[in-house]
Amino acid sequence: MKKKTVHKKVFAAVSKKAAVQPLRIPVPSETPISAYDVVLHNFDIAAAKLQLSDELKQLIKTPDRELRVELPIIMDNGKLNTLIGYRVQHNNARGPNKGGIRYHPDVDLDEVRALSSLMTWKTAIVDIPFVGAKGGIAVDPRQLSTGELERLTRVFTQKIDCIIGPSEDIPAPDVNTNAQVMSWMMDQYSRRHGHSPAVVTGKPVELGGSAGREEATGRGVCIALREASKALKFDIKKTAIAVQGFGNVGAHTARILEEEIGAKVVAVSDVKGGVYNPRGIRFKDAMEHAAGTGSVVGLKGAAKISNAELLELKCDVLIPAALGGQLHGRNADRVKAKLIVEAANGPTTYEADEVFAAKKVAVVPDIYANAGGVTVSYFEWAQNLQQFRWDYARVVAELEKVMTKSFAEIVKCTERYNVTMRIGAYILALDRVAKATKLRGI
Ligand code: NAD
Repeated sequence: MKKKTVHKKVFAAVSKKAAVQPLRIPVPSETPISAYDVVLHNFDIAAAKLQLSDELKQLIKTPDRELRVELPIIMDNGKLNTLIGYRVQHNNARGPNKGGIRYHPDVDLDEVRALSSLMTWKTAIVDIPFVGAKGGIAVDPRQLSTGELERLTRVFTQKIDCIIGPSEDIPAPDVNTNAQVMSWMMDQYSRRHGHSPAVVTGKPVELGGSAGREEATGRGVCIALREASKALKFDIKKTAIAVQGFGNVGAHTARILEEEIGAKVVAVSDVKGGVYNPRGIRFKDAMEHAAGTGSVVGLKGAAKISNAELLELKCDVLIPAALGGQLHGRNADRVKAKLIVEAANGPTTYEADEVFAAKKVAVVPDIYANAGGVTVSYFEWAQNLQQFRWDYARVVAELEKVMTKSFAEIVKCTERYNVTMRIGAYILALDRVAKATKLRGI
């Protein structure tokens, strides 16, 4: 069957399902749905479709190891401050653990568990030899000086030293962490174990980072959007795109959309709020304004909007690229975009998914859409182990191959099981993890 026909059929499967059901907007649950609830919900649907045995399901579903650590640091004012950090390793079937480190006040065990689980499915979808992990510290890094941030990162690395390592568990940047934080982690780990660049990815190029790693998640999101646009048969250049979050992922996504694809980004936002211009927001202007003022808010020629308003804007494509849980039962029916590409991890609850299926809104799920980052992290790790460098063109070409192939594989699964693209992606991933688990033996 020709590729285009397959693509057409898969989205039709979602639409057909929607057409036979009356538009049913579920009543939002009274209690908030946690990030972990959402992952487990999607896992259960995929496991049922695969008819996984209860024993295997139980083994694969929940984290393999969870570490909670106390992090005492001396603040610049001489006072002692004790923070809490976590590292959760979700699985051990397909390779070492892999996943980011998040610094955010909302970090808790439930969120880290959810994010570690997403990493298991993500690494399986792009078929790289890792399983999921995630870590984080409950802290607002904006309140810390650079020295405090470095001391905190070093004590965290010491405390999780017993479970990380190049063939054990390899951290990477996530929300509010970056190449500098990875440099401190690599240095701290190397003091005990000898020079170990492969212990973290997302390092600066000067310390063994990969060309193209910083932009990789955003580049992957753009490839995901391009593949979806082919399937849905629309021209990206003629769409209005809203991007929530203007950090590493959101900003690179907006840049590549404009500079390489020629698409029009009409809204961007950050933690302080958003800006909207139906004629388009130039990436360079937004970047310069954010660099000068600390936020995109106040950008000349654009109207100020809130983050909530951005999600409900009149646009064709919505790209959540900030935090999880943004699209839920209480706002999903007001979303006007026809396509959502999930750059953030866990931006959509299962209640919102039901609304989107009923409204025929296509969702390209996080476990595929933002997998470009971990894919290039894999390239970085492989380069470190081989002590050999790839150039930027090779990284981009290899990423392109992985993302395109994975999209087609998800489409196949989605069509075969007649499910949404999210569940199709979970089925593909769970099948790979289940097979590896069985082959290794318990
Ligand atoms: P980042 O810290 O670089 O940027 C986060 C952005 O979100 C910032 O613009 C920040 O101001 C904004 N933000 C924070 N709180 C917000 C709120 N309440 N409402 C709206 N905006 C808010 O982080 P990042 O690395 O760009 O990560 C963004 C998302 O992408 C996260 O969900 C992360 O897990 C996911 N992700 C990141 C990578 C990666 O390689 N960095 C890979 C895969 C997935």
